[in-house]
Amino acid sequence: MIVQKYGGTSVGSAARIRRVSRRIADTVASGQQVVVVVSAMGHTTDRLISLAESVNPEPPARELDMLVANGETITAPLVAMCLEGMGVPAVSLSGMQAGVRTSGQHSRARIHDIKPDRILETLAEGKVAVVAGFQGATEDLEITTLGRGGSDTTAVALAAALHAESCEIYTDVDGIFTADPRVVKSARKLTHIQYDEMLELAAVGAKVMHPRAVEIGELYSVPIHVRSSFNKGAGTMIVAQVPMEDRKRVRGVAQETNVAKITVIGVADRPGVAAAIFEPLAAAGVSVDVIVQNIGRSGRTDLTFSVAESELKAAVKLVKAAAKTVGAQKVSSAGGIAKLSIVGTGMQGTPGIAAQMFRALAEAGINIEMISTSEIRITCLVARDQVERGVRILHKAFELDVD
Ligand code: ADP
Ligand code: ASP
Ligand code: MG
Repeated sequence: MIVQKYGGTSVGSAARIRRVSRRIADTVASGQQVVVVVSAMGHTTDRLISLAESVNPEPPARELDMLVANGETITAPLVAMCLEGMGVPAVSLSGMQAGVRTSGQHSRARIHDIKPDRILETLAEGKVAVVAGFQGATEDLEITTLGRGGSDTTAVALAAALHAESCEIYTDVDGIFTADPRVVKSARKLTHIQYDEMLELAAVGAKVMHPRAVEIGELYSVPIHVRSSFNKGAGTMIVAQVPMEDRKRVRGVAQETNVAKITVIGVADRPGVAAAIFEPLAAAGVSVDVIVQNIGRSGRTDLTFSVAESELKAAVKLVKAAAKTVGAQKVSSAGGIAKLSIVGTGMQGTPGIAAQMFRALAEAGINIEMISTSEIRITCLVARDQVERGVRILHKAFELDVD
């Protein structure tokens, strides 16, 4: 059994749906059982969100999910009827019908478990199951969505629940590249990448995979094959261990532009202040990313951190209220920044990588505002209008275009 997921561009028109369906039909003809997961056609999700905002600038989260889930609900029956027309029996299923049970946090629900009875029945009848990605339902049958790009997560979670042989993610590029191929022309397709490397890349902006899909893949050892829906070439395998010779020090560069920063100036340098500022953000589900706290001077210090620019307004409101309670002097905020990251397991225990990154950016005149690291990643916050140039500079500095 195999799970195949087709992204928005791949099902963006009737002609593309026919092409994708032929590919599914070929897989069925090769004797495999196929579960298909589909995204909304083209830019449907974006259009539905802006439609919602045009009738209410702050649409209630429940209603927004009721609306945007429809993108995927449209694609699934179209693919199923296209397959039927080709003589391939198929049944479309909503996330709820497919048994995708989630938490109740609208627009960022997490999959609790999958009860795939309907899918298994469909397969037992010799039919293809075509599942609407991105959506699920709570125990109380409230419709939820998994966050932008979440159809990948539906696919990998289904592959895990069904013990499928592998999960194929069909998209509009040939696989995972050393950088976004739309930003770096000389970016190189990787034949393999490790789950941990892909997870870090996805978390810092390489949107080719939804981070939670990679997480589930690693947890349940689902081999993930990211490949093009436009040609038959092999793509990139996401696996636990890459072959020895592929373990280069830096594997990829990524950028994320939805970033803003908040600075709380002159907070008291005593226990409990950071907790008081971050707790309300956590309670509201706002994730805080890079955090920098200065060394205290005469009992006061400054605290700067980044949030998604799309959540800046809500975050500033919460931080201002919290800042008042701890007696901070001022809260300032700014958008227009971006994250620039390098990722690679080979970075562990290789000294000098950070220095090399900072030197390359310095020589290009790119100022670093904040820095954060993990064992296999270094991230710099830079001006947004510099980030694409920064990606190209780092790609070159670490010779990622040479195999
Ligand atoms: P889909 O609709 O199929 O889910 P997405 O738009 O979510 O497709 O993801 C594919 C896009 O991810 C590509 O078009 C590419 O521009 C972008 N991308 C960013 N970083 C990378 C990378 N390192 N390798 C490949 N694609 C990347
Ligand atoms: N349609 C959703 C989105 O645009 C989910 C997905 O495509 O994976 O984010
Ligand atoms: Mg995607």
